[in-house]
Order: sequence, then C-alpha cells, then structure tokens
Amino acid sequence: MDMVHTGGCRCGAVRFETRGVLREVVACHCSQCRRQTGLHYAATNVSDDRLDVEGADNVTLYRASDGAGRGFCRVCGSALFWKADGRDDISIMAGSFDQPSGLTIGVHIFCADKADFYEISDDAPQFAGSTS
Ligand SMILES: [Zn+2]
Ligand SMILES: [Zn+2]
Repeated sequence: MDMVHTGGCRCGAVRFETRGVLREVVACHCSQCRRQTGLHYAATNVSDDRLDVEGADNVTLYRASDGAGRGFCRVCGSALFWKADGRDDISIMAGSFDQPSGLTIGVHIFCADKADFYEISDDAPQFAGSTS
C-alpha cells in the first residue's frame, strides 16, 4: 500500500491527501516567498496524480511571476501550493501537512535574497540562487 500523507489549510476549507514518498523539502528564501509568507517557503513536491484536493474551489491561484501560480486558501489565507505552468507536478507547503509529517529539509535556495533577521541553522546545502 502506498504511503499516505494528509494536510490542509488553517481553517479546514482545503484538505489534501498525497500518496507515495514525499520529496525532501526545498526552502526558498527569495523575496516573493518572503513577502507571501513573512519568512520563507518550505515545500515538498509530488506528481499531480499523487495529490487529491478536497475543497479545491477554495484555492485561489496568485501569479507572483510568469510561469507559476501560488495557491492559497481564499478563506483563511494559508499558503498551500506552488504550481509551475505546464508541469505535471506540484509543490505543497511543508507546514500544511498534519504532524508528524516525516519531512526533512533538503536544500535552501535563493539564500542571497534571505531576510536579515534570521539565520539558516541546519546542515542542508545553501545556494545563492536556484540549484541549477
Ligand atoms: Zn483555509
Ligand atoms: Zn521563493
């Protein structure tokens, strides 16, 4: 049987379930993620066919940049998803998973744009921009 993880937004209007192993968490410290979350993004990723969303009507997509949308709960504002156009996978905010999530941080990206009021204190590799 596939591994199942569940999660959702703060208010419960959006709930989701994933099947299979979750990718390591990518923490993105870019200015878009900083402003959207107040800190930084931290997201795992699954292929579309391994995600089921309940209450998808309550997800609003905001386009911070060309080529990707940021999905959040229109009721409570929780950041939930990041979806690149034309790709068959989707990033899911690590903090939205029910605990224990079993997730671990894999990499920090766009560290050059990190806010000045916190330090990255784990041992995961850090990149000034994207990893590629
Ligand atoms: Zn909500
Ligand atoms: Zn970012």
